Amino acid sequence: MLMNITVVGYWHAYPERGEATSGYLLEHGSTKLLLDCGSGVVSNVQKYIDLIDLNGVVLSHYHHDHFADIGPLQYAQIVNKGMGKRKKNFTIYAHQEDTASFNKLAYKDLVKSVAYNEREPLKIGPFAFNFFKTQHPVPCYAMKITCDGKQIVYTADSSYFAGLADFANGCDLVITECSGYSGDHVGQYGHMNSKDAAKLAVHSGVEKIILSHLPHHGNHEQLKREVEETFSGDVVLAKAGLVLEL
Ligand SMILES: [Zn+2]
Ligand SMILES: [Zn+2]
Repeated sequence: MLMNITVVGYWHAYPERGEATSGYLLEHGSTKLLLDCGSGVVSNVQKYIDLIDLNGVVLSHYHHDHFADIGPLQYAQIVNKGMGKRKKNFTIYAHQEDTASFNKLAYKDLVKSVAYNEREPLKIGPFAFNFFKTQHPVPCYAMKITCDGKQIVYTADSSYFAGLADFANGCDLVITECSGYSGDHVGQYGHMNSKDAAKLAVHSGVEKIILSHLPHHGNHEQLKREVEETFSGDVVLAKAGLVLEL
């Protein structure tokens, strides 16, 4: 059986018309998880699945472009449960370093919350998650997902550092943030530009990367060309509905 990942939203900061910020649908058999749940994700994920089929969400951090739609998603679970439609339990997995935000994730017995940490892998259905703290203004975790011998790393938000490339070493696919073009100094805000994304790809030794968390200016094709100047592997630009199987 294959593991599937669908790009639900890929915008940095806010969604362009009709689209969404960070959100990736991860599926294997009947297990369906969202990696992050930014603004527009609840609406857009329904292009691919019914909300009642979601098992939960794994959150990287508490910035709005990654968790703005958690509230609506909780309501959807509550409403669907009330109508007798929901069959699955629903769990939000997140770090607990921002206690006030973490404590808002659970709702009665309808939405559960589970804290993850860097020290122990987290098992969710067929997936094993490992977490790694990134360099960002608020605590944020990159995640490595292992399933049937395949590995995906999602960087979430981070500036470039060697440890992140080590974390991604040898995986089959990296979904990396790419918040700016080569001349954009986004590192100071805890983000990567195309040169940083290329460095991550080269140093981690992966063969394929998806550029996501894309900026609102310029032509995204240029990001891809800038990465390809130093990285000889496969570079894919995130877009809504892009599906990768591995
Ligand atoms: Zn962020
Ligand atoms: Zn972000």
